[in-house]
Amino acid sequence: MAVLEGLEFGKSDFVLLDEVNIEQFMENLKLRFEKARIYTFIGEGVVSVNPYKQMDIYGKEEINAYRGRELYENPPHLYAVADAAYKAMKRRAKDTCIVVSGESGAGKTEASKYIMQYIAAITNPSQRAEVESVKNVLLKSNCVLEAFGNAKTNRNDNSSRFGKYMDINFNFNGDPTGGHINNYLLEKTSNNDRYSHNAVLSALNVIGFSEEEIHSIYRILGTILILGNLQFETDRESVLVVGMGDVSHIAELTSTEPDNVTKSLLYRTVATGGGEVIEKGHSEKEACFGRDAFTKALYERLFGWIVGRINAVIEVKDYNPVLHGKNTVIGVLDIYGFEIFDNNSFEQFCINYCNEKLQQLFIQLILCQEQDEYRREGIIWQHIDYFNNQIIVDLVEQPHKGIISVLDEACLSVGKVTDTVCLESMDVKLGQHPHYTSRKVDKTMEFHRDFRIRHYAGDVTYSVEGFLDKNKDPLFQDFKRLMFNSSNPVMKEMWPDGQLSITEVTKRPLTAATLFKNSIVALVEKLSCKEPYYVRCIKPNDIKSPALFDDARCQHQVAYLGLLENVRVRRAGFACRQAYTRFLQRYKMTCENTWPNHLMGTDREAVEAIVTQHGFQDDVAYGHTMLFVRTPKSLFTLEQERAAL
Ligand code: ATP
Ligand code: MG
Repeated sequence: MAVLEGLEFGKSDFVLLDEVNIEQFMENLKLRFEKARIYTFIGEGVVSVNPYKQMDIYGKEEINAYRGRELYENPPHLYAVADAAYKAMKRRAKDTCIVVSGESGAGKTEASKYIMQYIAAITNPSQRAEVESVKNVLLKSNCVLEAFGNAKTNRNDNSSRFGKYMDINFNFNGDPTGGHINNYLLEKTSNNDRYSHNAVLSALNVIGFSEEEIHSIYRILGTILILGNLQFETDRESVLVVGMGDVSHIAELTSTEPDNVTKSLLYRTVATGGGEVIEKGHSEKEACFGRDAFTKALYERLFGWIVGRINAVIEVKDYNPVLHGKNTVIGVLDIYGFEIFDNNSFEQFCINYCNEKLQQLFIQLILCQEQDEYRREGIIWQHIDYFNNQIIVDLVEQPHKGIISVLDEACLSVGKVTDTVCLESMDVKLGQHPHYTSRKVDKTMEFHRDFRIRHYAGDVTYSVEGFLDKNKDPLFQDFKRLMFNSSNPVMKEMWPDGQLSITEVTKRPLTAATLFKNSIVALVEKLSCKEPYYVRCIKPNDIKSPALFDDARCQHQVAYLGLLENVRVRRAGFACRQAYTRFLQRYKMTCENTWPNHLMGTDREAVEAIVTQHGFQDDVAYGHTMLFVRTPKSLFTLEQERAAL
């Protein structure tokens, strides 16, 4: 059983700091890390510092200690947050979500796994077989997605190059009935031999992939490997594939005709202005470009298809709310945090835009909603200054004016538009924006090809080189048609757009940035109707050491995760609130003035009598319609007393 910690481990909640400033915050964070206390609360959220070593804190004993208990009864832990989200879902039938964020290598994926394991461990106490199988599939799906979506990078040996949002559905008993996964794949890595084939194979089997499907998956991975080594040569005027053996191997693996494989590698079909359709031979460079785009697309489609298959298995079927009660949801979001590299390109632009959106959601949910409610209720509120980043979100996504719209225009315009031309039109449209700079505006910037965004987390300079290519759908229709004509039904299914004719696809295709934006807007919409819980992950150093707390690196992360602001709001705020009527209904029996006879006037007066009798009048504020309680401890005392009667 976990026991509350002593003071030598620092403050277990940043809300308890004597003063909220960066020095005290960092001191507490460092002290706790050095004492192997990797978690610290900020109210109902938790800050986690990657320990880079196995911790003995995720066992059955810990799970039991946190299960169904109130926060503050145990030391900070992911389990406390997971339990709070679960309790809110079960007791109040609230949809909740746990947002896990932080930079690459900070421990998001590990944290999400512990959260999932915790939820799996505390549900279905009666071990019903159908619930067990849902849980099993939910847990195994992680293993499959990691195997196909992760890559070894210099920041993290097991980096998720995708963001993942998983909804877990629950019935009125609080047992999982299914789920749904959304993935936000950015970089299309080809997979490697890191993962254990056996583990993935067994996971695929548990999820219910058929033999044929599993074979198809391996055939596609094989094709990707061959394409990775495929070379072209130019013989006089014509471009050829080096080593025709590879072509027949690809044809065999993809169940297509060798001639068609060769053709799609060396030619592309184009529609001329007059509506005529002709075949145009590639230059060697174009052939390489096509091959790489094909390789990436094979991978991306495979990944998307696997997610779709998993979703089909875990989707809640035959749920009747009348029979089964309200279906509630806990969402777990594991998403890359802010990225600032030496060279930042289109991928970092997308990731950082996504983080601006999440920050905006955070501001709205926590800061604005709280402040608005206090104002409505006439509670005296100490105004907190915070930076509202909506202006940066607009810079990126505003229709007709934002960066994405300028990029799209450049990609869709006829004629040759280069990255530099695109940068020039950004300068024209955005040169005046307070959060945008380029060399045209600021001569001290080093390169002509760069533009800089002043993000809420700091300045990031992006090189526009490659933006247009990455934003366009780079895949020639010929490859899509090749795969659509595969006689392997699994592969055919992955390429439905291969049946479109070349004249149909030349119309306005959605660009990568717009597709990404649409998926992030949909994500934020999904999250915004849920009660949020936060896990903020911090990476203590860049050398994966369990012993080093790099002050500057950590402080930087604390700043861009907005943690100080988070603490300030929590401290100024109230942990709990309840309408007077409900409060009275629940606790009237604990006070002689309200039980058995209601001797007071209004509900509010009755509530005041209860609060005063229990001596926590300094811990509350009275709003127009509800009572605000600063610390959950007061309510907890009442709950205990009520239970003891
Ligand atoms: P990315 O954005 O690149 O996917 P991430 O934030 O998901 O990064 P993780 O993969 O979760 O990072 O963590 C990186 C590594 O740190 C893990 O492989 C593991 O070695 C270590 N680690 C993270 N959290 C823990 C933990 N709670 N206990 C022990 N080791 C951990
Ligand atoms: Mg990860």
